[in-house]
Amino acid sequence: MDFSTRPARYDILFEPVRIGPKVAKNRFYQVPHCNGGGYRDPSAVVEMRRTKAEGGWGVVFTEQTEIHHSSEITPFIEQRLWDDREVPALARMAEAMKSHGALAGIQLAYSGINGPNLYTREVPLAVTGGPILTFTSDPVQARTIDREDIRNIRRWFRNAIRRAQTAGFDMLCLYGAHGFGIFQHFLSRATNQRSDEYGGSLENRSRFVREVVADAREETKGEMAISLRLSLHEEGTLGFSNAEARDFIAMNSDLPDLWDLAHGTWENCSGTSRFVPEAAQEDLVRGIRELTSKPVVGVGRFTSVDEMVRQVKEGILDFIGAARPSIADPFLPKKIEEGRFDDIRECIGCNICVSGDMTGAISRCTQNTAFMEEWRKGWHPERPRAKGPSDSVLIVGAGPTGLEAALQLGKRGYRVALAEATTTLGGRVARERGLPGLSAWGRVADYRTGQIAPMPNVEVYLDSRMTAEDVLEMGFEHVAIATGATWRRDAVARLHLAPIPTDPAMPLFTPDDLMAGDGPTGGQVMLYDDDHYYMGSVIAEALVARGCQVDFVTPATKVAEWTEHTLEQAAIMRRLLSLDVNVIPCKAPEAIGDSEVTLGCTWTGAQCTMRADAVVMVTSRSPNDALYHELNAREWQGAGILSLRLIGDAAAPGPIAWATYAGRRYAEELDTPDIGDALPFRRELAELLP
Ligand code: ADP
Ligand code: SF4
Repeated sequence: MDFSTRPARYDILFEPVRIGPKVAKNRFYQVPHCNGGGYRDPSAVVEMRRTKAEGGWGVVFTEQTEIHHSSEITPFIEQRLWDDREVPALARMAEAMKSHGALAGIQLAYSGINGPNLYTREVPLAVTGGPILTFTSDPVQARTIDREDIRNIRRWFRNAIRRAQTAGFDMLCLYGAHGFGIFQHFLSRATNQRSDEYGGSLENRSRFVREVVADAREETKGEMAISLRLSLHEEGTLGFSNAEARDFIAMNSDLPDLWDLAHGTWENCSGTSRFVPEAAQEDLVRGIRELTSKPVVGVGRFTSVDEMVRQVKEGILDFIGAARPSIADPFLPKKIEEGRFDDIRECIGCNICVSGDMTGAISRCTQNTAFMEEWRKGWHPERPRAKGPSDSVLIVGAGPTGLEAALQLGKRGYRVALAEATTTLGGRVARERGLPGLSAWGRVADYRTGQIAPMPNVEVYLDSRMTAEDVLEMGFEHVAIATGATWRRDAVARLHLAPIPTDPAMPLFTPDDLMAGDGPTGGQVMLYDDDHYYMGSVIAEALVARGCQVDFVTPATKVAEWTEHTLEQAAIMRRLLSLDVNVIPCKAPEAIGDSEVTLGCTWTGAQCTMRADAVVMVTSRSPNDALYHELNAREWQGAGILSLRLIGDAAAPGPIAWATYAGRRYAEELDTPDIGDALPFRRELAELLP
């Protein structure tokens, strides 16, 4: 391979680094990350991890692996290592991770105060008992562990470590960050209020992790590398602060073979680009490397190569840790190595991947449409499916759906025409990237536009609003209509399934109006959000920036409730309060007058009125499917067209990740055999026992 296009200053990222008894081939370290597949979809996870190894990561980790049935985090689906029957699946995992020279790592977790045990029904065991601390407010408390329990948990770790070694892993990660692992629970005075030799002083609170590391070294005969994933900073007066984390590392500097540093809570660690910039944990990490002779890995949604090099050169990090950037582009290291910088598919920091885990679904990625479909559907993040027998495809609409379809079909070798009504590629992301905090979302368009540009077989037609006549005349074999969706101007969404009485004298606007530069520029504005994702709060921010007083009305009990799944809800609420947005939950408009709105309480129906100079509806979107229906009503088969499809937001509006997925699916399935009623993906079924 010719690396001549790679600047020499990036070579440092490709130096091998020793981790205890193992050597990583480079500084790219895929830190443990969930994927919503876990124990339920083992082969789907295996092939996802294989693409990371193939893409050049020096270290590839599993997600958190529950080591014992006395601690599990249902409804979240992670990996399990409860008995020997789990070993074959994990052996397949380790083999896939090692397939291209990466070190295979397994993260071991005992969830303690974070595990409600809804599935196993065991009494949760915690360093200090109390209500389970997780996202779901389960009405369950944990019992405080005694010395015998501690001996048991140490033995359970040994059992899991032995099984992990049998499965073929090179590295262990003991999970003590994000509030999720028992090592953090011991270290933090908030979750460790013990008065025995495991509580009180930092020395005492460190005892358990020291014991488990010693057990691990003995159990593995020193053959596996051991990392400790440590919380960088917990909030609150009792929290394990950054200062204490530094004291702990100084006190135990050579304890693990590697320090894997991550923020105290998952929300803080995996902030979205709307709230947290790249490399945001630098201040918490800087200087820690001087306290230890062991290598340090940190995260920060790194996609800028110069930033990675700076962090290594300045001695902040030895390894560039990545979860989301490795999901968005499993081939990030290879592309940097080969100097193919324009080919990097940068993470946009939207946390849709996180939402897959949070909802117990399987994760998807806005940018990497193949994520978690590598085994289920045989999709690959880089390699296209072979071309089928037909030749030409017309795609109408260049939003995320149309762009992804054009890119994937172009890679497959079809002659593609992409017709876009406006003079800009990107559709909704071209507009949404201009909203407060969403600029990184433009990467969805930039990546695809950049990839399509040099393709000789993909022709882009801007300023080309297509009519049914145009489509019929163009003579393409396949036609995909990806014409997007338009925000509704009325209250129809989840609560109101039909329009409400509305006085035409009240100025009514939609997010589309605001993105087009229209809408209120001052006065008292009521924003009605029955969408519950990001748009309502983003539009509220935009209205405040225009000088409006905003009343944010939602029928939900909290603003942007779906953003719990993207770890943003608290940050959104804080942002709205800091902007003096008047948040009015549990209410919805029932009638709109010329200068006031009648609101109804969603619990009691009690009514009140509020003055408004304008109303902005963030409710639902109508598919722009008129062109499709017009074509469908015509004799398109007679015009030589073999297939006509409606895809993306034009079929069923959803988040951007749903749109890119729809584009990918269309491109993947073109010219493939009709499978009729069969399931369109592979899945594993539970083994039946007598
Ligand atoms: P999606 O998320 O499904 O990609 P978008 O709304 O982002 O949907 O993009 C749809 C794109 O289709 C927009 O850029 C819009 O300008 C374009 N479009 C809509 N109607 C036509 C048409 N008749 N001809 C060409 N382009 C169209
Ligand atoms: Fe990044 Fe969004 Fe993909 Fe997650 S879903 S990896 S945040 S682009």
